[in-house]
Amino acid sequence: MTQHLKHFIEGVSVEASDGARMGLVSPISEDRYATAARGTIEDVDRAVGAARTQLDRGEWSRLDGSQRGRLLNRLADLVERDTNALADMDANAIGRSPFEPRMMDVPNAIANLRAAAGWANQLEGRTIPTGGYMGVKTLSYTVREPIGVVGAILPWNSPLMITTWKLAALLAAGCTVVVKPAEETPQSALHLARLCQEAGFPDGVVNVVTGYGDVVGRALCEHPDVAKISFTGSPEAGRAIQRIAAPLFKRVTLELGGKSPQIVFDDAQFDAALRGCSMGLFVNQGQVCAAGSRILVQRGIAQRFATALAEAANAVVVGDPRQPGVQMGPVAKKAQFERVNRYIRQGLDEGAELLAGGVSTPDKGWFVKPTIFANASNAMSIAREEIFGPVGTIIGFDTEEEAIALANDSEYGLAATVWTTDLARAHRVAGAMKVGAVGVNCWSPLDANLPWGGLKTSGIGREGGIAGAVAYTEEKVITILLPS
Ligand code: NAD
Repeated sequence: MTQHLKHFIEGVSVEASDGARMGLVSPISEDRYATAARGTIEDVDRAVGAARTQLDRGEWSRLDGSQRGRLLNRLADLVERDTNALADMDANAIGRSPFEPRMMDVPNAIANLRAAAGWANQLEGRTIPTGGYMGVKTLSYTVREPIGVVGAILPWNSPLMITTWKLAALLAAGCTVVVKPAEETPQSALHLARLCQEAGFPDGVVNVVTGYGDVVGRALCEHPDVAKISFTGSPEAGRAIQRIAAPLFKRVTLELGGKSPQIVFDDAQFDAALRGCSMGLFVNQGQVCAAGSRILVQRGIAQRFATALAEAANAVVVGDPRQPGVQMGPVAKKAQFERVNRYIRQGLDEGAELLAGGVSTPDKGWFVKPTIFANASNAMSIAREEIFGPVGTIIGFDTEEEAIALANDSEYGLAATVWTTDLARAHRVAGAMKVGAVGVNCWSPLDANLPWGGLKTSGIGREGGIAGAVAYTEEKVITILLPS
């Protein structure tokens, strides 16, 4: 029998108000393997109501930071207990090898929850000296209060890890939430919500409504009782959310796309740079916001590097990721498959040199070949637009100044990597990057204590670190008159 997933509202699994369902399709077999409730505006209203009640007068509203921290630590233990199950859910839903979520996503999720447990009682106010009020001394201080009910709207590429970026921080801050997972990947968010219940979070603190962005996502953005939207996804949806949120003065954090450069200088450790560039291109089939898809290589080593990267691409074993020895599964959905192939055709039309891979035409499953273009220019669409697939574009440069100019010539500004053994150059180039995060001799280091987010089209705001939890609070100032 096909598995069916329901919303999780106020601690109970419920169907959509009109009973509607949507299908979940395997990227490997293209078969429908499960269904999920297709959320309605009424479902969102019900979930927001539950979250609002807990926030205003529920048991949750009476817990202090250390009690919230204890619950977060318990939740982290339960996620650790269910590591394999959670990794399998995310892997099966998008056709990824379970090895990657076991090694990266779930440990990162646990780290996010444990770090946030420590922040929960550190969201402190300030005492601010002033000149007093009308000649009378005053005491002014601030407190940090939970921002309110949060709508957390999620992508499909790394579902559990990104859910915990948001959940850990907002729960530390004392908020409540309605989670809207991507339509392709509701499983791990629903499981996490049930683990919240098992950990002892009061029902109604964490709610999940499954369904489509233009209904459930939109209803969350429009709901008057949702104070903040925390969104990770495409710039197109980010713009739509901004348009709804702006007249309502709703707070937003937007974690959007990227076209991140990996700059390889001729003094770099060749093999380390090669490994880092392969990883930045092929992990999760390239469906990573920080994918290092623009590879800028100094001309002295460009030919050799391009040949070696093409060999690495050709060596990747593509197939059913559940089979031993397979390194890369299909991309997550049909639209993504078509998008990747479209960009590969554009790269060929624009005159880039195809060194590995190319347009894919599998019999079944959305498998694409790891693809490398060389001798490209930064003006080509394959260098400017986010492909979100295993496609790398190599561009040559001569000088450090040229590398910096090329790297920054992008509408995106999420991440960059610098490969060099020259310490001064590493500092100079890292300092010049117009991005939210730079890795020097390492591609995209992630850590629960580090801020993550982008500039320009890559988004607004930061997640991670204690500042990520502060972003779910409002600072209130209180002034007390102290007559002598
Ligand atoms: P998407 O924008 O299509 O969907 C993301 C979520 O938004 C889904 O839950 C979807 O249902 C919802 N949604 C879509 N339209 C909406 C609307 N009008 N109103 C409200 N909600 C709406 O993105 P995707 O394809 O799931 O994810 C891929 C994108 O996410 C890429 O651009 C990638 O770079 C980005 N991403 C960014 C980060 C980061 O940290 N910066 C991390 C992961 C993914």
